[in-house]
Amino acid sequence: MTILETPRAGAELDLSVPGPNGRALLASQEANESSARTYPRRLPVAIAEASGSYVTDVDGRVYIDFLAGAGVLALGHNHPALVAAVQDQLTRLAHGLDFPTPVREEFKQNQLAMLPASMRGEMKIHFCGPTGSDAVEAAVKLCKKATGRGGLVAFQGSYHGSTQGAMSLTSETHPKEGLLNLLPGVHFAPYAYCHRCPLRLRPDTCETNCAQLLASTLRDTHGGVLRPAAIIMELVQGEGGSIPAPADFVRRVAGVARELDIPLIVDEVQTGCGRTGTWFAFEQYGIEPDVIIASKGLSGLGLPVSVILYRSRLDRWGPGSHIGTFRGNNLAFASGNAYLDVLRRENLLQNVRVQGRHLLTALANLQRSTPLISDVRGLGLILGMEMAAWPAASVTAQQVAARVQRAALQRGLILEVGGREDRVIRLLPPLNVTRRTVDDALAIIRVGRQGGPGRTGRRAVSDHDGI
Ligand code: PMP
Repeated sequence: MTILETPRAGAELDLSVPGPNGRALLASQEANESSARTYPRRLPVAIAEASGSYVTDVDGRVYIDFLAGAGVLALGHNHPALVAAVQDQLTRLAHGLDFPTPVREEFKQNQLAMLPASMRGEMKIHFCGPTGSDAVEAAVKLCKKATGRGGLVAFQGSYHGSTQGAMSLTSETHPKEGLLNLLPGVHFAPYAYCHRCPLRLRPDTCETNCAQLLASTLRDTHGGVLRPAAIIMELVQGEGGSIPAPADFVRRVAGVARELDIPLIVDEVQTGCGRTGTWFAFEQYGIEPDVIIASKGLSGLGLPVSVILYRSRLDRWGPGSHIGTFRGNNLAFASGNAYLDVLRRENLLQNVRVQGRHLLTALANLQRSTPLISDVRGLGLILGMEMAAWPAASVTAQQVAARVQRAALQRGLILEVGGREDRVIRLLPPLNVTRRTVDDALAIIRVGRQGGPGRTGRRAVSDHDGI
């Protein structure tokens, strides 16, 4: 069947992926690793090596990688300039707690310089433990201490991480079941998910009532919600299904935050570091947040590092207010510095915008040709295709998305699913993805390619050569 063929009842996919070597590794993983493992359940691939936008599995099959380490691999796998920077740093210093080092200093100055001019000089940086979740924890603690308040506002559809504080701010209820006593005082407000408006309104006639609801709740002396320590939002909900917020929604939320003196935290763990076509997504919304959380793409190479950038006036922390052993990954700093050199030299943000538009247009054209796609959306290279149910064969939207993901894998393309009930096919290519690779991926999505994934040697396995 082709990837977007309307399902026939009982029709099965050819499941030749994984091959024999992959099956052995996956079986060992299933036997010995925790039941909490996720990606290989839906994407049964055991990876031997990777390069640029391509991954080779242990049976020699080659895939285009549009998962890119869940949006971490800004320059794809093993970019040579980044690898060289890390190799050089490795011989000097790998781990440095929070002691100053030349490479850390350069990284810090680089990150502060990436802020819009109007914010430079106003902001401080804190190096967190290496994950996005830890930076979310840091941001929340910073705002609580600064305001002396306890509550938090997050949005329906949000994902902020898996530690207990970050999970408290994450909207999905399933992982929280049976986990008692997460952070109290989190109020979830509706997000502008216009394709499935939580208020059942239409974007062309509504007045961004979702933002209005939050504003009136917070302003109302009988709204029931105490003034919170912070509002935390994603400008494009990532795990929530690649949902870019409309500008009016973001501006109104930022407006009420400013009016009521509530710090606004933007979680740019997934949208940051160039993924949306500007260094940070908030730059495209005409707002200035009080706290920015960045992690995934910071090193460009997938080395763990995370930071918060925040208004100096919020810094009421004392020594040790948010610490951790792994706040000095000097390899990640070296890689992150080299990433910014490549970003500037290759005008990468422009590539993100160009390839993102190309993909979005192609997917929108595809939507017109099939009833199985109900929405196509994205900003830069964080894109989503929401699938529709096919009632004639009793197939749900979730099953359609799962089949598309599996059929794409069979044909050599790694895609993520996300959003409510995993109905959304998510595309997160490396930011230096070439037009050729994008078109190869589109060809797989459009009609399916017969013959399964490529084999090493039969096709290019790297696109490091430039965009
Ligand atoms: N915030 C956002 C927006 C994310 O997408 C993620 C990870 N998907 C996180 C926080 C958590 O990051 P980590 O998995 O590194 O803890």
